[in-house]
Amino acid sequence: MTIDDAPRDALRGGPRELLRWVATGAAVSRADLSRLSGLSPSTVSQRVEALISQGLLEEAGAGRSRGGRRPRQLAVPTGGAVVGAIDLGAHHARVGTLDLSGRVVQARTRPVRIEDGPEAVLADLLGEVAALAVVPNGPTPSDAPAAGALRGIGIGIPGPVQHATGRIVSPSRMPGWNGFDVAAFCADRVEVPVIVDNDANLMALGAHRTTHPDLEHAVYIKAGTGIGSGVISDGRLHRGAQGSAGDISHCRVVADPAPPCSCGNAGCLEAVASGAALVTALREQGVPVDDLTGVIRLIDDGDRHATALARQAGRAIGEILAVVVNFFNPQVVAIGGRLADCEPLLASMRATLYERCLPLATQTLLIERVTTGQDVGITGAAHLVIDHVVAVN
Ligand SMILES: [Zn+2]
Repeated sequence: MTIDDAPRDALRGGPRELLRWVATGAAVSRADLSRLSGLSPSTVSQRVEALISQGLLEEAGAGRSRGGRRPRQLAVPTGGAVVGAIDLGAHHARVGTLDLSGRVVQARTRPVRIEDGPEAVLADLLGEVAALAVVPNGPTPSDAPAAGALRGIGIGIPGPVQHATGRIVSPSRMPGWNGFDVAAFCADRVEVPVIVDNDANLMALGAHRTTHPDLEHAVYIKAGTGIGSGVISDGRLHRGAQGSAGDISHCRVVADPAPPCSCGNAGCLEAVASGAALVTALREQGVPVDDLTGVIRLIDDGDRHATALARQAGRAIGEILAVVVNFFNPQVVAIGGRLADCEPLLASMRATLYERCLPLATQTLLIERVTTGQDVGITGAAHLVIDHVVAVN
């Protein structure tokens, strides 16, 4: 399905923000919402009525009296709407349900064999979301969200996704997935909107909404088995014309020799600095290593081959990031994914960035780790759906 971007009502007082204030307890009445948003009581009332008619808000009991009529109290329906989220990785998927403020209700990690192909993998994960959506969330059965409370599903894919169609285009390390229409496949199996995006975009959205919602320009690097980035511009996820904005995996870096890349070129960032590249390079040096976990263990143990490769990877990421920072002038650059915890990689990325960037671009630039943990991807996926659901209902 084609999903237009939600209008930017993250500005003060949009329906999504009103909903978020109630969900987080910042507001319990129309008067609170009016005060927080600076909007007139009649505008707030209009938006609240719309949210109530969509079943996204409810009026429960009466608030504290201030002498006159007792104000009606607003709440997000309990046991009510949730969105489903799937963050698909090379070997695992994080699957969860989140409430309409973007808080995780339930989440679990499942092993995935990406080589089993899209039908088998996605059918299994959709089943998992459906199961989570009806599992009781509280101590009593009455707390169970009713079946049908699922409002939509957001899915992150570790490869390029054409945003308008939800189709996967030329992914590395996903045999059998090229050209697969994830959105259409899922739409045939569930009755709620399904929105598909790449995993780096979802990490960017999740990290931005939870850590820096106030900053308007941000770049988030996801460095795991693959490598990619998501761009927040003017407070919104920037996807570009087709959805490939931020995909830095095939940008060329200085490397001698230049390792061949799955795209047919040589010396791509992905072939030098991704987790998969580190595994390959170590094996070529005769170091027996199974996977990225093994590489990270070697780096933590101070193995000199692995540490040297991590430094080289950090320099390569820093080189590309320096171009991005000079060009885009973000307020924050944050690195997430499993390689973000490798100190040698982070240190050389940071040094390269300072060396190669204009002083004006780095003067107030924050360089950070993404600190939101394993649920950052599903949080981003949920926000994608929440923005859509609240905007179109
Ligand atoms: Zn390439």
